Formats: sequence, structure tokens, C-alpha cells
Amino acid sequence: MKKSLLFSIPLLSLVLCGCTWGGTRVTDYTPTEPTPVDPFQPDEGDGYKKYSEFAYNLQDVKKTTDQYGLPSKGDSYLLVVPVQFKSTSWTDVKLEVIRRGFFGKASETSWQSVASYYEESSYKQLHIKGEVAPVLDIPMSHLEASQHLSDGSPAPDEVVVEYFTNSSDYDELKKKYDTDGDGYIDSVVFVYPNGINPDNGYWAWVYWSNNEPSKEVPTANAYLWMSYYFFSGSNYAAYGAGIDSHTAIHETGHLLGLDDYYQYDSDQKFDPSGGLEMHSYNIGDENIYSKFALGWADPYYVKTNSSVKLKLRSSALYGDSIIINDSWNENSMDEYLIIEYYTPQGMNDLDAHESYKPNAGTKASRMYNTNGFRIYHIDSRLVELEIRGTAKGYVNDLPSEGYFTVGASNSPSRSYLGSFLGQQKAIDYKYVHLLESNGINTFKTGSFASNKTLFKQGSSFVATSEFFPNGSRFNNGNEVGYRIDIGECLDTGGEITITKI
Ligand SMILES: [Zn+2]
Repeated sequence: MKKSLLFSIPLLSLVLCGCTWGGTRVTDYTPTEPTPVDPFQPDEGDGYKKYSEFAYNLQDVKKTTDQYGLPSKGDSYLLVVPVQFKSTSWTDVKLEVIRRGFFGKASETSWQSVASYYEESSYKQLHIKGEVAPVLDIPMSHLEASQHLSDGSPAPDEVVVEYFTNSSDYDELKKKYDTDGDGYIDSVVFVYPNGINPDNGYWAWVYWSNNEPSKEVPTANAYLWMSYYFFSGSNYAAYGAGIDSHTAIHETGHLLGLDDYYQYDSDQKFDPSGGLEMHSYNIGDENIYSKFALGWADPYYVKTNSSVKLKLRSSALYGDSIIINDSWNENSMDEYLIIEYYTPQGMNDLDAHESYKPNAGTKASRMYNTNGFRIYHIDSRLVELEIRGTAKGYVNDLPSEGYFTVGASNSPSRSYLGSFLGQQKAIDYKYVHLLESNGINTFKTGSFASNKTLFKQGSSFVATSEFFPNGSRFNNGNEVGYRIDIGECLDTGGEITITKI
């Protein structure tokens, strides 16, 4: 059922991404083969337990506010529609570039396609499939379409109206791509062939529309809007080489339900995620929280009165991770520490060895090229929403009725906490906060993550007021209560000891 328009407006607003990064052209890069990984997997034992089944995940939360994006497991379908204005045109070569960029083998791109990336990042649990549809002709120039920006409508409104009212040629495709039969095409991508121009709507974003679902002719709920030129860091993409899918991968992550973790607010220096991951600065693998929230990771939960020593394999290759919070609700939507073992392998490999240059030229642009642990403080507690995007308060589970979202954000302007906890908490409580091995919160003063952020052999962690607004306690008031000590960090795995304090 469609929710009221009054409710829809604030929640379904445009998600504009600061995907301003152009890519360094790498045409002759050969990734090193990952070192074969020891099949070590700790059995359950005193003080820890492996979890693989969860009652709900981030996608179920998004559906409560009518955000039906791309399913995160199994076969998921993207319908890619090239859009042609009177003033612009496609060629067969350009159409092949977007086919390869979305669905090609990794070897057909300069790094990965959208499909090959998510196949690896999800530990082979998400298979993105689809096709490039026939070109959709729009009976106006791209500048005429963009004029609707002046009345508050985004430029692609014209495209979407054309696609859904006058393009019966596509009706069979629309049915084919509603694979779960809910009246919505699983996800649609509109790619325009003209250049990138953020000032008149020619940019990359994901939009959640408030179209009514229809089983007769399925409509779009989630769609991605992007330029052909995002496949090229320098405004060209040569056939067979140099197809750069970083931006398309990032945007497809939004279709899966992931939020941006970088700092949107220009008055805030503090970029809590540190930048080095796909949903911050567009590079490398997804972080382990994103993977957990989408149902790809099977974490160990540590709760002990003494000490537990574990070995984790690289999160670039396996879903190994550790959750800490003695009152955990057994779901990704809660507050906890999550620990992963990072290695520059898999989807981190190329971006750990080649700088990916942001247009701004000032921010971090290369993944860590060393092994070590990443410890995140996650606050993904859910809040119940009222109309107009204000929240009533926390819920500890996902009730079957009502509208819910993650309350905290890394950007205060996007937090829901202010409406019931006050503005200071909206600033202090971060959604995805990467903790730093030197014990000093350098991100708070404008620094970004680097190799020295990682926890390596001999380093340790205890919660302090440097990183936690409530000192040694979680935002929920409970003691974090553990000390973490790092042992050997080999390519095959890293050792970690968790001790009750
Ligand atoms: Zn984004």
C-alpha cells in the first residue's frame, strides 16, 4: 500500500550524492592473486557464538517507508534504460560501455563492473543481472528537460513521465523486471549520454518515487539517474578499456538501501567514517557494517566475563566479524562495536594500490595497503517516524506497523535524533564511526583514515571520551565493558583478544 503523500514528501526526497570523484585511468593493472586463506573458522565456544540468521535487515526497514530497492540476496535485476534527448545521441560503442559497466566481466572494465563487484563484496550471495533496454527518445532537448528544476522538479521527471506514460514499447520489459511481482520494477537505471552538470540536474543520484505499484504495467519505485560520463574519469571511455564503474557501484549501493557515510554538512569538520570505503569516498569494498546490514556477514557475538581469543579471516574475502554489546538485540539495527579484519585484497586490491583522485583534490583517495583490524562504533538504532520526517523515539525491534528508519547519521542535518533527543545528540551520535588505533580522534579535526588508523599487532582499544560521547559507555548508556588487544596480523588472518573489564 502506498502511504499518504504528506508522509512521502520528506522521506522520499532526492538523495543527492556527492559523487564528485573522477577516476585515475588504470588500463594495465593486474591485481595480485590473493594469498590462499587458511580455512580456519573458530567453533563456538565459551563466551562467543556465531550468528547467521536474523529476523530482519536494513532492506526490511527501508520498506516501511516505501523504499523497495534492489534485493540484496539472490538474483536481482537492473533494467538499464539509455535516455536520448533531441540534443544528444548514443552510439553502439557507448551502449556497449554501459553494458560492460553494469553487467560485464571484471576483465572488460578497468576494475569491476557493478555486477562483478557486488558478486565479490557479497561473498557470492548477490547476483546482479539485467540488460540495456532500447534507447528511450525524449521529445525535448536536455536543457529543456532541465528547466523543470526551476519549479522544484528534478530533470529526470520528464524522462520518467515519458517512460511511464508514452512508452508502451517497454511494457513487456517492465513486467520481466518485476521479478517479485510487487508491481514495481526491481530497480531502473536511466543513463543519459550528455555531460555531467550538477547545476542543471545532470548528476548521479538515486530517487525513491511515490508511484503507485501496478501489476499490469509495473512502475519504478527506486531509480538511479546518471551520466554515461561517470564511466570515465576524464570524460572519455574507450571501448574495451578504461570503463570505470566506481560511481555506478556506489549508486547501486543506494538502490540496495545503503546510506552515505561521508559528512554532508559543510559546517562540520568531523567525517566519522574516515572516508576509506565505498559509501564514503567511493573506493574499495563495502565496510563490514554495510555487509552485515544487507545480510551478507555472519558475525561472532562475544559476551564473556573473562577473555576470548579469536582469529578472523579478511573481510575482503569472508564475512567474519565480531559484535560487542552485552545487551545486543541480535540484529544489525542496534548499537554495538563491529570488528573486521582488513586486508588489501578482493575489492580493496586495486584501490589500495592506485590513488583514486577526487575532483576536490584534498581528500583521502587510497585504501589502506596494509593488514589490520577496523573497529567501528555503530549506532543503527531504529526510530519510529511521524509525518514530515520527525521521529517519536527509539524502538528496539521492527514492529509490523509504522514507519521506521535508522535514527543517527554521520551528518547532523540528516539525523532524526534532534526531534526527540535535541540537536546536540544529533551532532554527537554518529551512525558509522571508525575508531582510531592511536587513541586520538583525529577525524574530529578534519583528518581522514590512513594505514595508521588500523589496529595492528600490539595495539589495543578501550572506550574513552575521546571517541564516545558518554565516556566509557555506549550512547544507550550501557558500559562498552571490554578491552581489545590485537595479535598477529597475517594475510591468512588476524588474531584478536577481547577481555571483560
Ligand atoms: Zn552516495
